[in-house]
Amino acid sequence: MNKQEMYRSIPKVDMLLRNEKVEKACSACGRACVMEAVHAETEALRRLIRETEDEAAVQSAVEQLPEKIAARAQAMTEPSIRRVINGTGMILHTNLGRAPSGRALTEKMAEIVSGYCSLEYDLDEGGRGSRTAAAEALLCRMTGAEDALVVNNNAAAVILILSTLAAGGEVIVSRGELVEIGGHFRIPDVMVQSGARLVEVGTSNRTRLEDYEKAVSGDTRVLMKVHTSNYAVLGFTESVPVKALHQLSVRCGVPVVEDLGSGALINPARYGLPDEPTVREMVREGADVLCFSGDKLLGGPQAGLILGKKEYIRRMRENPLMRALRVGKLTAVMLELVLRTYLSEEKAEEEIPVLRMLRADAAQEQARAQSLAAILKKTCPAAEIDTEPCSSGTGGGALPLARIDSWAVVIRPKKMTPQQLEEKMRHFRVPVIGLLRGGAVRLDVRTIEEKDFDLLAVQFGEVLA
Ligand SMILES: *Cc1c(COP(=O)(O)O)cnc(C)c1O
Repeated sequence: MNKQEMYRSIPKVDMLLRNEKVEKACSACGRACVMEAVHAETEALRRLIRETEDEAAVQSAVEQLPEKIAARAQAMTEPSIRRVINGTGMILHTNLGRAPSGRALTEKMAEIVSGYCSLEYDLDEGGRGSRTAAAEALLCRMTGAEDALVVNNNAAAVILILSTLAAGGEVIVSRGELVEIGGHFRIPDVMVQSGARLVEVGTSNRTRLEDYEKAVSGDTRVLMKVHTSNYAVLGFTESVPVKALHQLSVRCGVPVVEDLGSGALINPARYGLPDEPTVREMVREGADVLCFSGDKLLGGPQAGLILGKKEYIRRMRENPLMRALRVGKLTAVMLELVLRTYLSEEKAEEEIPVLRMLRADAAQEQARAQSLAAILKKTCPAAEIDTEPCSSGTGGGALPLARIDSWAVVIRPKKMTPQQLEEKMRHFRVPVIGLLRGGAVRLDVRTIEEKDFDLLAVQFGEVLA
């Protein structure tokens, strides 16, 4: 065959569309995706012909054309954000969606949002309602705050608070609390964004009340505390508790605003983790406005939760920015469901995955690791499988010093390198994210649900049989 003949051996589009595999792809993925796949695959084939003299290779590529078209069209319909199994042990993994929602709550949400829902409709009055009124009432009830406001995330909360209360004026912050959260969220930059001037006081390790006192001027609008939620300053340190700042704020007539970062409704100390005062305790300390994330220790959807005195919250509610920062429907529904679950702490610990994972002790994880290892051993003869104690952090800007004792399943493949296995795991039908450490792949079982154990056995079995 010369090149001309090779080119002529490429089937015409209408021929391809009549192929059984391509027809099937059409009804599964739609004609538009299939046409795009036809053009991409025939183009690839032309390129091959241009670059090769190997007749057999071209012939086999022509034969495989319908299959390749079908596969490409199928791939186009797959979402790129997919369910994954988190074997890293990091409970609030920023790259893996932070707090997982859990099956029970997600099913309830799906039931509500799959059709119309009373998002902004007051069923008692038969008129307009507020999408976050219920969540806000629950927040007040759970924390003792006067009023509450829900926005898109905690970064948005900080921006709304500062631009409402401090634009054109000064905000006093300790140098020990000029936090960068990641993703370009730095307190000094946020300050610029919201039109307030940052006044830094104290040093990185020590700030005293008199530092704040000296910095107060006629332009001061807010005394701000920021929780150092993703690092810790240890050793020779001093910082001013909110209680003391509150007294100063009363004297100079400006509010104390506290960015709590994580904001726990249940103190993780209850589970043997570092003490993190609950939001209720922080409200009692006397901050006039507080904010925290919905999807850190709370274990809910991405949201920024603002609490505070009625007057301050009212001003924020009326800020035109509010319309841009409000939460979407899915978030509004999920947040209310999660907060309602907290009405019973036992129920919250059962249904909110983050709490369940924080609570499980090392002995429970050891038993779970052994049971996963036992079923993996059955399907994966081409690997050595063991269990080992391990420890991980919570991640996601919460409890930076916490090491949570846990157990891992250790997989040492016999016919490939751990790196090769790790790559294959990311391409499983339900991808698995593990840890490459010490010449093995490790799966910390703390962040893996038992219902996924059988699926893991099947998927690992396909590459380690
Ligand atoms: C995490 C965090 C934020 C940002 O919260 P998001 O909900 O991720 O926007 C802001 N401030 C502090 C102190 C944090 O820990």
